[in-house]
Amino acid sequence: MATDKLAFIREELAELEKQGLLINFRTMGSAADGWMIVDGKKVLNFCTNNYLGLANSAQLKEAAKKAIDEWGVGPAAVRTIAGTQRLHLELERRLAAFKGVEAAMYVQSGFCANQAALGPLVGKEDVIFSDRLNHASIIDGARLSGAKIIVYEHCDVQDAEVKIKENLPGYQRGLLVTDGVFSMDGDIAPLDQLYELCERYNLLTMVDDAHGEGVLGKGRGIVHHFGLHGLFDVEIGTLSKAFGVVGGVIAGKKAIVDYVRQKGRPNLFSSAVTAADTAACLAAVDILESSTELVDRLWSNASYFKTGMKTLGFDIGVTTTPIVPVMLGEAPLAKQFSKRLFEEGVFAMAIGFPTVAKGKARIRVMNTAAHTHEDLDKGLAVFGRVGKELGVIR
Ligand code: PMP
Repeated sequence: MATDKLAFIREELAELEKQGLLINFRTMGSAADGWMIVDGKKVLNFCTNNYLGLANSAQLKEAAKKAIDEWGVGPAAVRTIAGTQRLHLELERRLAAFKGVEAAMYVQSGFCANQAALGPLVGKEDVIFSDRLNHASIIDGARLSGAKIIVYEHCDVQDAEVKIKENLPGYQRGLLVTDGVFSMDGDIAPLDQLYELCERYNLLTMVDDAHGEGVLGKGRGIVHHFGLHGLFDVEIGTLSKAFGVVGGVIAGKKAIVDYVRQKGRPNLFSSAVTAADTAACLAAVDILESSTELVDRLWSNASYFKTGMKTLGFDIGVTTTPIVPVMLGEAPLAKQFSKRLFEEGVFAMAIGFPTVAKGKARIRVMNTAAHTHEDLDKGLAVFGRVGKELGVIR
């Protein structure tokens, strides 16, 4: 009899289950919004990256519907063959103007954007300096590039300098890459100091602003927040969080964007984003350019919620943004906490290894402009009850 070729998979899944690390995929039964139907139950939603509440915006939905009537549903081609529609180019122009950079390029996702940019910029002769807590898509893009990867300690400019001094001389070119806002902790990279460091060592500079766009710098992102307009070589972004839609962006110096258009593999080998998505993104840019009302509401909600959580006695880590990690430690406790929150009508997922380090499991709350203070009061009351019940707070 043949041996079971899939035994290793069954064993691994059983082990994950035993360690409390098996991901429980819940099913959404309504649009991403302040409240949602999750597994058939209406709950207060603290899980989506819908920072500005645009994912279910009437204006964006109308733009998407109109675009389907005009353009159909799929481009049926990669950008480099027959997939570049006028809408894509218009969005790219608008995004570049919004971010105050020379050029921008729209790709399928933020994940793809990191791969598209890193591959052409560095290769086997080069070295990447990467923050220890950088997002998985940066790590994978860096690995695929073939460049040597040197990890510096999280947000530690001194450690980055020590490692640059030590390693750069052996390589042709160096690039430093960091998340702007770190998505699991909600802290911000010291971009001004990193920029100054990179200037001294003539490194290419790249920041992934997935959680800063629509959030920091009055919505224009982390580079604006630090007043470094147009200075970073590459700004990566996503249209799937604050913009409420889907897609990634590579923005920055025109020469780089032009080069990545030619060489970035997701651009060459994976079909273009649909017209509906592109048109919805354009509507999101219209909203962000016309007013900071949603961004202001997001920050007001975040500050209200964070104050409430601290008053209750929760450890919310080092966040300075609307991302609120509720630090719990071991994965089974975080899972149990999330389960009890859900039973009480609050949807906030537990996050454990490998998304965060072992022993650093947490509940991550994403604040949005789609919540009212009344919603947040409800959420805080439930956190308080469950926190006491599980002995996390007194
Ligand atoms: N970069 C960072 C820092 C992110 O948090 C994410 C989303 N989890 C991405 C990239 C990927 O973006 P997208 O969902 O558009 O692929």
